[in-house]
Amino acid sequence: MTYTCQYCKKDFIRESSLAVHCCEPKRRHQDQNEVGVRLGFNAYLKFYELTQGSAKLKTYTDFAESPYYKAFVKFGRYCVNTRVVNPARFTEWVLKQNKKLDYWCSDKLYDEYLLYYLKVETMEDALARAIEHSIKWAEEKSAAPQDFLRYGNPNVIIHAITNGRVSAWVLYNSDSGQKFLSDLNEEQRNIIWPYIDADVWTKKLREDPANRIEAQELLTQAGW
Ligand SMILES: [Zn+2]
Repeated sequence: MTYTCQYCKKDFIRESSLAVHCCEPKRRHQDQNEVGVRLGFNAYLKFYELTQGSAKLKTYTDFAESPYYKAFVKFGRYCVNTRVVNPARFTEWVLKQNKKLDYWCSDKLYDEYLLYYLKVETMEDALARAIEHSIKWAEEKSAAPQDFLRYGNPNVIIHAITNGRVSAWVLYNSDSGQKFLSDLNEEQRNIIWPYIDADVWTKKLREDPANRIEAQELLTQAGW
């Protein structure tokens, strides 16, 4: 009697040999619950949905056997490592932009998406992300989350703005945000300008008074 690997069909005389055996198809099967692989699989389904009209018949096995498996998984892992804001939206965006799959894991491309996304996401999503980020900062610094923009290191805050953790929704609608912006030097302002472009945001906030007022109230109540 032999033991057969169900993934690559290789035969083994001992069951223990099969148990320790590792092949690419088996590895792909075992990796299916890894976050980056899940994101890659979702992108693969979305790709079929948009290009072929339906992804209903595609299974994880189809994905694992696809010649595009590695490229999609690379994209999924890129989303995890870069801490991409809203990976599902990023996937839809790259697909709609008709970008080639091997170009999807590009920081330049992600930045382009982020600048687009920050202007169209909801006020609630923007505030929730900033608050979540401030809680992590507060835990590390033994500080109060609402003091992030008040007492955080300016370079750390600038980084949080350019990677999308702190949005213009927060900066323009909180006392500590306004103060932070007014204290920046020219070089610092230039770095964050594309993300908080006052010309764009003044207009955007003026045209959406309900959300602007709600953001101000929420941030004031939270002590920002
Ligand atoms: Zn095998």
